[in-house]
Amino acid sequence: MVPRVRKLQITRRAALTGAAAAAVVAWDPAGLGWLTAADAAPGIRVPDLDGELAVDEESRTEAADDYGHIVHRRPLAVLRPGSARDVQKVVRFANRHGLKVAMRGQGHSTYGQAQTAGGVVIDSRTLAAVHRITPGHAVVDAGVQWLHLVQQTLDRGLTPPVATDYLGLSVGGTLSVGGIGGATSHHGMLVDNVLALEVVTGTGDLVRCSPAVRPDLFHAVLGGLGQFAIITRATVRLVPAATTARVYHLTYPDLASFTAAQRRALADRRFSYLEGLMTPTESGWIYQLEGVAYYTPPSEPGDLAAGLGASAVDVVEMPYFAWLNRIYDLVQQLLALRLQGPWINVFLPDEATDAYVAELLAETPPADAGGVVLLYPIPRELIREPFVRLPDSPVVFMLALLRAVSPPSEAETQRLLAVNRRQYDQAVAVGGTHYPVGAIPLTPADWQTHYGDRWPAFRAAKHRYDPRHVLTPGQGIFA
Ligand SMILES: Cc1cc2nc3c(=O)[nH]c(=O)nc-3n(C[C@H](O)[C@H](O)[C@H](O)COP(=O)(O)OP(=O)(O)OC[C@H]3O[C@@H](n4cnc5c(N)ncnc54)[C@H](O)[C@@H]3O)c2cc1C
Repeated sequence: MVPRVRKLQITRRAALTGAAAAAVVAWDPAGLGWLTAADAAPGIRVPDLDGELAVDEESRTEAADDYGHIVHRRPLAVLRPGSARDVQKVVRFANRHGLKVAMRGQGHSTYGQAQTAGGVVIDSRTLAAVHRITPGHAVVDAGVQWLHLVQQTLDRGLTPPVATDYLGLSVGGTLSVGGIGGATSHHGMLVDNVLALEVVTGTGDLVRCSPAVRPDLFHAVLGGLGQFAIITRATVRLVPAATTARVYHLTYPDLASFTAAQRRALADRRFSYLEGLMTPTESGWIYQLEGVAYYTPPSEPGDLAAGLGASAVDVVEMPYFAWLNRIYDLVQQLLALRLQGPWINVFLPDEATDAYVAELLAETPPADAGGVVLLYPIPRELIREPFVRLPDSPVVFMLALLRAVSPPSEAETQRLLAVNRRQYDQAVAVGGTHYPVGAIPLTPADWQTHYGDRWPAFRAAKHRYDPRHVLTPGQGIFA
């Protein structure tokens, strides 16, 4: 998975200068790397930028890390774009000089997906404007966090129809992978709620696309893992927001009754949001259906636990925003611990779910689980973007083990990566796919398996939009 890179060095002067960012003026492909004005050396001029190209240690070290703290590939520079044109200029520059480029959103990947050892990381946090909010949609820069968008849309009584469990992720980073949450049971993934995109393709073209304009590019980019274009701006769907969330936790004695209740709840769509939690204890697993009704008083949901056969029912009510943002503080605490996070996230066909999960739970001690394990069903028909790969089954279960290695240990992380690989193989053997946000060691051949009959289309889109394979090497899809 490690891309082959040219060995280039930062000039000694640039490396020593903490404030070197604005001073980079030229590139010496012969071996010196970036040149500052102070080097007064000849080189290929770096394009004039609205933002800055940083080559200092701190910027490059940050870009060589992510939420997983497992993979560390150092870029030669970090672009903090001041505009989409900056992204375009750097992608064109990279094409001309054999560099790789990866956009980094909030860096919440767990296995180096937003890193590059041989080029430039573009830090999208400087592209973070909410441009427009209307009753039906919002136009936002790719670096906007969902949290900040939701805060602004709720001021107008609006919300994205589906949200990830954690709102501190970037629009661009989530639209590149899919974006799943409890409301996916009604609205599909985040990528199924996009009206238009502005992107910079791998060849450096800045273009707008939508289902009507350049639809092949639009559909390739959504869930396209950054392989064809960098998203610079997105127009995302908004719907009227409810004010209140009534949250049900329904407890079940075993896996079979838990998933049976989830299937029933999915079939009648009684909840606005449907997920499920499996919590390890020393004496076994606790199974809980998590269902939420969004509503605005005086209208009231009925008894949504009725007929779901739970052994215990817990109901709480909270403002809609408090619910959407429920894990933000917890994630900030986890981020501060800097634990390695060898996550595994797989999608399973309905018919294989119970057997697969039972076996996985039986071999997972509490310490390997990383806390709560997520398991919930989604309807296949609502997830329409072609490069979001799901099992071929009308109902698909999302299974997520959010492992954390505590205390940090390289040996323990490597052991869990090997477990991930074995469990991934077992998932594929029963018709499963992986959700590419986790830490599973994969080869290009595994990716061909992942895309299956869509692989020729995936490869053709790469050839068309990023023929020099400049973009997003950290996914490891191409050799
Ligand atoms: C605590 C936590 C909770 C999470 N909860 C959920 C959840 O509920 N649902 C869910 O679906 N996922 C969830 N995820 C996974 C998350 O959606 C993905 O890891 C996502 O890619 C992270 O977004 P990011 O902004 O950090 O992207 P990054 O990690 O920075 O980037 C992810 C990938 O997208 C590429 N990329 C980033 N920006 C762009 C862009 N503008 N254009 C093109 N490519 C780009 C990167 O190069 C990289 O390959 C969670 C992750 C964490 C750490």
